[in-house]
Amino acid sequence: MKFYSTNNKNSKVSLEQAIFHSLPEDNGLYMPEFIPKCDNIFINSLGTLSFQEIAYEISKRLLHDEIEDEILKNIVDDAVNFPAPVIALEKNAYVLELFHGPSMAFKDFGARFMGRLMAYFLKNKKKKLNILVATSGDTGGAVAMGFYDVPDIRVTILYPSGKVSPVQEKQLTTLGKNITALEVDGTFDDCQRLVKQAFLDKELNEQLNLSSANSINISRLIPQTFYYFNAVAQLRAKSDERPVIFSVPSGNFGNLTAGLIAQRMGLPVSHFVASTNINDEVPQYLQSGKFIAYPSKHTLSNAMDVGNPSNFSRMLDLFDRDADKMSALISGYSFDDKETLSAIREMFDQNNYILCPHTAIAYLGLKEYLKEYPGQNAAGVFLSTAHPCKFPDVYDEDIKKQIVYPSQAGELSDKKKSAVLMDNDFGKLKSFLMN
Ligand SMILES: *Cc1c(COP(=O)(O)O)cnc(C)c1O
Repeated sequence: MKFYSTNNKNSKVSLEQAIFHSLPEDNGLYMPEFIPKCDNIFINSLGTLSFQEIAYEISKRLLHDEIEDEILKNIVDDAVNFPAPVIALEKNAYVLELFHGPSMAFKDFGARFMGRLMAYFLKNKKKKLNILVATSGDTGGAVAMGFYDVPDIRVTILYPSGKVSPVQEKQLTTLGKNITALEVDGTFDDCQRLVKQAFLDKELNEQLNLSSANSINISRLIPQTFYYFNAVAQLRAKSDERPVIFSVPSGNFGNLTAGLIAQRMGLPVSHFVASTNINDEVPQYLQSGKFIAYPSKHTLSNAMDVGNPSNFSRMLDLFDRDADKMSALISGYSFDDKETLSAIREMFDQNNYILCPHTAIAYLGLKEYLKEYPGQNAAGVFLSTAHPCKFPDVYDEDIKKQIVYPSQAGELSDKKKSAVLMDNDFGKLKSFLMN
């Protein structure tokens, strides 16, 4: 499998090139040169397969001939080592829980797979890899834990001091070994600016083998297709044979793009819902056919505060830049913080289930779609992208008290924070990295 740039389908690279240089020079994004179709025998047998078996079958099709089967199997088994259960909550509303990994957010799938894939390609190289990443919270934790103790890779994470939640900060700052956290006296935007400057700095790039780990990397999208297949598998195992509607809480739209790829591979999905907070450029596009990027606005679901989603160019590519084609398969809805909070309240009062603020938006999106198009013979599934314990400040006291902290969170509380304080100053970052 080769990968082309969305800006030039003739410029193709290997998997190895696509993962270490995630941004093509023409500023497009990499996509697989074709989307392999699964046969009906495989689709019809989904209900009998385990998550790891499904993940291996899908990755083999998507990466085929780039990695030996046996090695790929080991990478998949190691990366996908926690479940993603589908749970029935209401008539026609299932939740797909993607937060059972080490950082308690769905980004674990992408980060763990990317880390292992990179380590495989680095094996016979002399130069160590330096991953540099800025985080507003969730990405950093997933990358830190996904790359922890992975050989030949050093990870440096910049996070804004005082602006990530306590659980998120612990995830970044308590690992040690090959993971270093830099606590920057500034905002997330400052962190991002520093990282960008580092990638443009000639001297730094000559000395260090620098790479990023953000969601534009194609190796993060590939493992995200696995859980869409596994969700349908679980419905089939429950004898729910209906086509599926997925509602995806979206920011940079990597998660939704992975779902679209799964559908193109033959997964029986009848519709997608692009659920966003008030950063609603994509729902607007689906309505009007016009895409207008805005500066991002701050919300309670802050991992989705994105004004110019990076994966939108992949979505355009999948639909030949045709807005009508895209809106035939995807509906978009956006919700504000007030609606987010009432959805959390409603779900708690009715089902005693606690939604994280991002997940609440996916739930609202599914409900809105089913209200607009009633009488669907389809199973509605909304994706839960993070565990509520990562966002304790969002909840009223009575709900907050009921949050059950999983073992991953319990283990963190005993660990000591270790972070390097850093001024918002590129010279300081550079000399830190050089030493
Ligand atoms: C990153 C993130 C999202 C958004 O995912 P995209 O793939 O960027 O659309 C949603 N929810 C949570 C909890 C996240 O961390």
